[in-house]
Amino acid sequence: MSALSILFATSEMAPWVKTGGLGDVAAALPASLRKAGHDIRVLLPAYPALKTAFPEAELVASLPALAPGLPACRLLSAKASGLPLLLLECPELFDRPGNPYLDASGQDWPDNAIRFGLLSRVAARLGQPDSPLDWAADVVHANDWQAALAPAFLHYQGGAASVVTVHNIAFQGCFGREMLAALGLPEHAWRFDGVEYHDQLSFLKSGLQLCSQISTVSPTYAREIQDEHFGYGLAPLLRHRSDALRGILNGVDTGIWNPATDPALPFAYAANRLAAKRANKTALQTEMGLDVTADRPLFGVISRLTHQKGLDLLLTIADGLPDLPAQLVVLGSGDKAMEAGFAELAARFPKQIAVKLGFDEALAHRIEAGSDCFVMPSRFEPCGLNQMYSLRYGTPPIVRATGGLADTVVDVCEDSLADKSANGFVLDGDTPHALWVAMERVCRTWQDKKLWQRVQQNGMRRDFSWTHAANEYVALYRDAIARKA
Ligand code: ADP
Repeated sequence: MSALSILFATSEMAPWVKTGGLGDVAAALPASLRKAGHDIRVLLPAYPALKTAFPEAELVASLPALAPGLPACRLLSAKASGLPLLLLECPELFDRPGNPYLDASGQDWPDNAIRFGLLSRVAARLGQPDSPLDWAADVVHANDWQAALAPAFLHYQGGAASVVTVHNIAFQGCFGREMLAALGLPEHAWRFDGVEYHDQLSFLKSGLQLCSQISTVSPTYAREIQDEHFGYGLAPLLRHRSDALRGILNGVDTGIWNPATDPALPFAYAANRLAAKRANKTALQTEMGLDVTADRPLFGVISRLTHQKGLDLLLTIADGLPDLPAQLVVLGSGDKAMEAGFAELAARFPKQIAVKLGFDEALAHRIEAGSDCFVMPSRFEPCGLNQMYSLRYGTPPIVRATGGLADTVVDVCEDSLADKSANGFVLDGDTPHALWVAMERVCRTWQDKKLWQRVQQNGMRRDFSWTHAANEYVALYRDAIARKA
């Protein structure tokens, strides 16, 4: 089969700019596709972190203002371990410190429609006959709302096939009607089956409506988002396009997330060398100021602290953990009330509960390695990476049966132990009580060291590499090209 030319458009990419799972996917999937022989280029804004990381990036195109509201911009070319990057340089839009979407007070940048309208517009241009490079994509892969207007430009102006991947349908990028002309979309695009959505210009809805193929990051989430409860208003559209929608489970970057080689860990270990995992627990307890003890399980959390992640359930019951007995370590940031709640808990139980507010990649690795059990009671979870990292690190997760959690975590029971799939704990319900019952069950199971080790090893031996997902994306791209034709 012929190699494809693919433009992968994204608003974040690990390790340079990452707020969540998309950043990890953008680092790993294009690299896998390149390894499989495809000509893939990653387009993303030239945020300060990228300019610092790639000072030798070379100017490859200067683009004039492509629409009345869009500034002129430039494309710089760089390589990340051989993977071609196209950095979209526009200092007035992207030279800002901190979070790519939010200002220092946590509000959306007021010009996000222009910032990501430009990203989408340039992504589309790279799949059009007048591409500013001596290269044009066969397929433009737009990730999340920030790139999802690209298929609209390709639809109204002509160009390559397009794929939209939904990493989280809760974020849709809705703006005022005045953005239609500002971004250079035609007046006739303002239709219910065009870019209009409840009298707003919705980036994500436009992409889902007008792209050639849609994917999301797990088979269960692909089903769930066609349901009103999970679809955040877009369920009817997704049902209408269900023949174009596919769920492809994310992989894990097994080079980065491997307890045998992880440079962030004090002690390397593997499925057949689990003793060193206990040494990581001791180190983590010490680092976080907890009692250093082996007599109780240590629960770990690494998360955005938001309603989605269900950690309010944990907050409600966490003051019972010291008596369970169990310890808890939390790394996260987000909702201010939840941050304050966890900080207050840590102050009350400094030897049993430790909380670090903020984003800390290396500590995240040490928590995955040093905890006994990972807590992830998400209300919805498109794919979720942390439960997969946990499985790889021999840290069985507690999850709700939703989205990618349902596709990766198998509850410990007689049958699943018999067929060696048992690898974690699934909550029965979405109440604090259900979480408490599951945590008690973890504590009991953990006491049975032989059983616990079986559960750990089942998770550690499962294959979460990207190779399989990359093949599925190639099939999706080919279907998109066929559909467009
Ligand atoms: P989401 O994308 O919804 O935030 P995922 O589980 O898919 O959730 O991905 C989260 C990613 O972000 C993981 O790689 C996780 O380790 C990381 N992460 C989240 N919060 C933090 C934090 N406070 N510090 C370090 N890493 C974090």
